[in-house]
Order: sequence, then structure tokens, then C-alpha cells
Amino acid sequence: MPARRITLRGRVQGCGVRPAIARLAAERGLAGSVWNSPRGVVVELLGSEDALIRFRETLPRALPAVAAVDGWEESEIDSDAFQPRDGFEIRASDREGEAAAIVPADLATCPSCLAEAADPTDRRFGYAFMTCTDCGPRYSIVRSMPYDRAATTMSPFAPCASCQAEYLDPRNRRFHSQTNACEACGPRLRLYEADGRQVAVDDAAFERAASAIASGRVLGVLGIGGYQLLVDATQPQAVRTLRERKGRYSKPLAILVADLADARRFAAIGPREAETLTSAANPIVVLERVTGALTPEQLDALVGPLDTLGVMLPSTALHQQLATRL
Ligand SMILES: [Zn+2]
Ligand SMILES: [Zn+2]
Repeated sequence: MPARRITLRGRVQGCGVRPAIARLAAERGLAGSVWNSPRGVVVELLGSEDALIRFRETLPRALPAVAAVDGWEESEIDSDAFQPRDGFEIRASDREGEAAAIVPADLATCPSCLAEAADPTDRRFGYAFMTCTDCGPRYSIVRSMPYDRAATTMSPFAPCASCQAEYLDPRNRRFHSQTNACEACGPRLRLYEADGRQVAVDDAAFERAASAIASGRVLGVLGIGGYQLLVDATQPQAVRTLRERKGRYSKPLAILVADLADARRFAAIGPREAETLTSAANPIVVLERVTGALTPEQLDALVGPLDTLGVMLPSTALHQQLATRL
């Protein structure tokens, strides 16, 4: 029986490539293993020539949409010494050698994770730091490549039994998700007063943060990759306070909305705009305003004389929870 080694280069770490390959190999009845190396992702396969050909044909379609394979090397390897001869495994990363793999980008929380965060029956209901193999921080938390939990700022958080079970289940969306966590085992949401006192955690932190914004205060949010300063966009005085503190008197400010339906209340959104707003890069999109949605005074504070409006959807469950509570 032939044995092969395939090395995939490009954006192939931190985006669910190893679990996708493990699933496909198991479906095709191939034995072998997959692991991250500094050069990319390495797969070793043992099986019939037919099964290997079908694996190769279906692999591009089986990979997650956020993965981008730039190159592919394949070589025959010694099948007599091949291990394991049964089953397929995800092996520990190989950390030797020159780094060539692309550091994965941060990805906005995916629709499946946002739906769970909003579902009262889900065990992660209201959890601020939802992630899966399709979404979540990567670039902002990785300390070295290859991308593994131990090489990220998630390393101090040991997964609980429920999270570990998801991690080990090939049918689960969080199979081999390096950031897998929940409120029981992962990072918790904490709210601090301006003097540094911690005043609330988890759900109480959301409640208190939302009421601080509603009362016209400025909230600093440590999101993915940096801080954002949030105020109630419908309170011109709150917007002016933010401008004074930042020394930004005329730069237009964007609004954060809970979802696409909410965005349509404020701006004209066609299919292209919707696609851009909901993409994994989660950009601020400059849109044509819907007249009458905001008062002239509110608009003046936000964007001055411009007739466009910057709009963004929640980039994380944290932003989603805040936006829906306001
Ligand atoms: Zn997700
Ligand atoms: Zn957990």
C-alpha cells in the first residue's frame, strides 16, 4: 500500500485545517497523521492509490473557507515503517526548522458562535469570548508559530471537561479548536472603574457596562487586537465628551449596531454592502445614510457635515451582547 507525505503552505494554521484533514482522511479510510510545522501543515497518509487520489481531489473543497493554500508538496514515503497503520491522528506540532507558515489573522466571531451566545439554552449563553475553528482571535494572541494553544495567551486556561470533550470530537465544530473555552474554564469578562477597581464580572459586567453607556459615560472595551471607546451614539453630549477626551474634534465616528437588521435602520444596505459588513474581517463600512434615522444634532456630533455613516457589526460576542443590551 502506498504512503505519501503532503505539505501545505500558506494560511493553513489557526483556521481549522488539521481537523478538516483528519475528518476527510477518516471518511476515506486512510491511516496517518497531520501536524503543524513551522513550514505549514504536514499530512502523512497510508491507503490504496484510489483512496489517496480521492483524498487529493476533495481536499481543496474540504478545507475551511478562511484557509488559503499557496503551495503544495507531495512525496512518497516508506510505507513499511509507516505509523500509525490504523486510524488517523492529529499529532503534536513540530517546532523545529525555519518558520514559513503565515501567522493566521484574527477573525470576527462567526454566525454560529454569535447564535450560541444569544441562545438562552446554550451552555455558552452570554459568554463574551466565543470562538470555534472558524473564528476568534489568532494574530492577537499567538506568541510563536506553529499555532497551538500553548503558543498563545490562552495557555494558562486549562479546558474544562465539556470543552475538552468538544475538542476531541471530530463531529464537533470545536474539534481541535486551540482557543476552545467557556465561562467555566476560559477568560472571564471583567469591568473596572476608571480608578482601576474591579466592579463586576460576567453577566453583571455586561449589565453595568450597558447602563454606564446609557447614562452617557465612555466605556473602554478591550476587543480583539486593541481598545475601543464606546459611547451612546444617540446622545450628542456623550459623543462630544468622547471627542474632547480623545482630542478628536472633527474625525467622523462609526456606529456599532447589533445585527444587519439594525444596520438597515440607519443606512442603505444592498447585497454587496451586506456581504462586506458580515465578512470575517469585520470592517467599518462607510454607507449612505437613511434620512430621519438620526436627528440633525445626533448626526452633527457623529459625522459633522458628511452625508455618509460608518457602520460596523459586532466583531465578537462581547460587542454583540453590549449592542443588544442598549
Ligand atoms: Zn465561531
Ligand atoms: Zn470550558
